[in-house]
Amino acid sequence: MARINENYLKLQAGYLFPEIGRRVSAFVAANPDKKVIRMGIGDVTKPLVPSVTKAFHEGVNEMANAETFRGYGPEQGYAFLREAIAKNDYRDRGIDIPADDIFISDGSKCDTGNIQEIFGHDNKVGICDPVYPVYADTTVMSGKTDGFDAGYYKGIIYMPCTKENGFIPEFPAETPDLIFLCFPNNPTGAVATKEELKKWVDYARKNKSIILYDAAYEAFITEENIPHSIYEIEGAKEVAIEFRSFSKTAGFTGTRCAFTVVPRELKAYDSAGKAHPVKPLWNRRQTTKFNGVSYPVQKAAAAVYTPEGKKEIAEVIAYYLENARIMKESLAAQGYEVFGGVNAPYVWVRTKNNMSSWEFFDKVLNEANVVGTPGSGFGPAGEGYFRFSAFADRESTVEAMERIKNMK
Ligand SMILES: *Cc1c(COP(=O)(O)O)cnc(C)c1O
Repeated sequence: MARINENYLKLQAGYLFPEIGRRVSAFVAANPDKKVIRMGIGDVTKPLVPSVTKAFHEGVNEMANAETFRGYGPEQGYAFLREAIAKNDYRDRGIDIPADDIFISDGSKCDTGNIQEIFGHDNKVGICDPVYPVYADTTVMSGKTDGFDAGYYKGIIYMPCTKENGFIPEFPAETPDLIFLCFPNNPTGAVATKEELKKWVDYARKNKSIILYDAAYEAFITEENIPHSIYEIEGAKEVAIEFRSFSKTAGFTGTRCAFTVVPRELKAYDSAGKAHPVKPLWNRRQTTKFNGVSYPVQKAAAAVYTPEGKKEIAEVIAYYLENARIMKESLAAQGYEVFGGVNAPYVWVRTKNNMSSWEFFDKVLNEANVVGTPGSGFGPAGEGYFRFSAFADRESTVEAMERIKNMK
């Protein structure tokens, strides 16, 4: 008799985006003449930039030629890409991360989920509330929770991120062994300063915890004194894994390329309290279960670091950030409390009159024909908030704000 992994039965139904999809489809079916503007799901809309596309094509041509054809590549990624990352994302910022400690993958979603495999199921996991839903769901799948109550999985340590604490979590009452942090944050758009991040690194060092640092939106940071990498903080290499992705940085959501840094200094402990380096475990996991990212995609990703690539990508990011600025300004002028949008492609809005996130979703969909994301879908502390994404085109962004202004 085949038995299922019962941890999957603990997952709550109605994952956020399918539910949004259902409501939008129903609205469109009932109102076929209405033009719906989608500012919900966190997906980019601009095409790959020319230098990336050029390298992508070159990679494909190499694969079509007997002399330059490549079969299986290194599971950890090609050296040319790992070196480019080590230089541009780290060395040029004064951080020494050897290319060897960088693992190329097909996505940060996969990596932030898969990383749990190399840690014991008895770890207590700390997760910000609200946040990207993948951390909580993969914690459930890996068997670290038991039951669900009032929006919370029992066994997860939730760390509320609210207006009161500037959307930066405080140390929870119970100490987590694994701590998911995401800055710039999805959905709140909040960033942690060096001082704030240092507190967490020191906390992890003191408690022998590990920080799982998701910096998928690093490229959107515009302000000074905001760390682009957790390794800008002294001692972080001993306590942090960093996840980065080309998805939002360079429009790779459909192309698929990301990377994870597991520093050689990072250690975790066995049941006898003996320290073990984590990197060999991740290397073993990847070499066993992953066969690398396709060569043309890695070629395309490396082009992100060429002078032309950098320039072209900066223009795309500036375009999205200008959308965010327009939304922020318009919503603030309409009397909404607005957060984020400066170092992130998300604007986080407080609903008026304590309206719930889903009520506001339905109102915005029905009256303005605009789709956003209910804050409560990212965790109970997101209730009463709403996320607008800056990834739509300029015209739609302006029009959406105008329509929201005209709501009853
Ligand atoms: C979009 C996003 C990612 C990127 O995931 P990929 O699998 O690399 O596309 C990672 N983390 C957060 C918080 C995100 O919003």
